[in-house]
Amino acid sequence: MLLRLLDSVLPPLCLGCNEIVAEPGALCAACWPGFTFIAAPHCARCGVPFADEVGPDAQCGACLKRPPRFRKARAALVYDDKSRRLVLPFKHGDRTDMARSCGRWMARAAGDLLAEAELIAPVPLHWRRLFTRRYNQALLLARGVARDSKLRIIPDLLRRARWTGSQAGLKAEERRKNVRRAFELHPRWAEAVKDKAVLLVDDVLTTGATAEACTVTLQRAGARHVDVLTLARVVRPAL
Ligand SMILES: [Zn+2]
Ligand SMILES: [Zn+2]
Repeated sequence: MLLRLLDSVLPPLCLGCNEIVAEPGALCAACWPGFTFIAAPHCARCGVPFADEVGPDAQCGACLKRPPRFRKARAALVYDDKSRRLVLPFKHGDRTDMARSCGRWMARAAGDLLAEAELIAPVPLHWRRLFTRRYNQALLLARGVARDSKLRIIPDLLRRARWTGSQAGLKAEERRKNVRRAFELHPRWAEAVKDKAVLLVDDVLTTGATAEACTVTLQRAGARHVDVLTLARVVRPAL
């Protein structure tokens, strides 16, 4: 209550650097150019940005070699030093503003994915945040995305079936093994998910292993297709 009161009295701060800005949820003039927003051209499948225009249906080498289990993935930002700040734990008062702004950027990045989705659900809280956070940022972002749409959000569609341990330092294949069968559908939603197009929301897409594990769980439960929307994604330089 006191915190909420303070929120309405204190000036709004930049999401990037905590400088005072004109409106809540904004970036200051200095921070804005530092964020790398992802726009076309990008891989039609996983959304990784391309350096050159190659046509709207082109897929990246990684997707051609090993198609991901999800249908499509999109992200608003490249995950770098700047956007990393946005996925660090937010102070109480910033959360609503952050969810609103980031949700708006993500909705823009989602494009058709949002129009085609019937359900929106967050990836359950990640192991590495269990100790440092008491809230799920993916849920916060999913709420931000759903805000301006008529999409039904199901916060507990998926839950963690087991402890997966650290993903840090693991290679893509090891990560996939590590998160295999890590998620389960909440039995309450067994009927709700059947034949539905699901939009899965997370904060960062790294190798996609977590998103794929969630996708497999949803597909087994009868989902028609699963798309993935994240605030940021790791973009590795081309080899
Ligand atoms: Zn700033
Ligand atoms: Zn791709």
